[in-house]
Amino acid sequence: MSGEPSKTLFEKIIAREIPATIVFEDELCFAIRDINPVAPTHILLIPKKPMPRLCDAVPEDQALLGHLMLIATRIAEAEGYGDAYRLVVNNGAASGQSVFHLHLHIIAGRPLKWPPG
Ligand code: AMP
Repeated sequence: MSGEPSKTLFEKIIAREIPATIVFEDELCFAIRDINPVAPTHILLIPKKPMPRLCDAVPEDQALLGHLMLIATRIAEAEGYGDAYRLVVNNGAASGQSVFHLHLHIIAGRPLKWPPG
């Protein structure tokens, strides 16, 4: 048995060990199409640094978190929904988080109700 920590699903995807449709990548983050989309555009934007939840971020992550917000906007624009998209972060199992590697859901392409369920 190795002492290496096990990789998250998203680390395996960025290592190309698990297939996914990658729509964006830079030195800090990457974006994939969600395997189970809830809208015509449903993209996951994922930092390469694998913090489990948003609440695990530390002050040193401030620039990374800002970067994710700006890249999310660029991705929504590239999808054709620059003025009508929703960003969602599920933080913790009780909020619906199922993959414990921080990710932003970029959701667009259909009317989005408020409040969300
Ligand atoms: P969350 O429930 O907020 O943790 O979101 C995890 C998301 O990852 C869900 O929307 C899943 O549909 C999505 N997902 C799970 N496995 C994969 C995969 N192999 N490729 C792309 N998206 C995935």
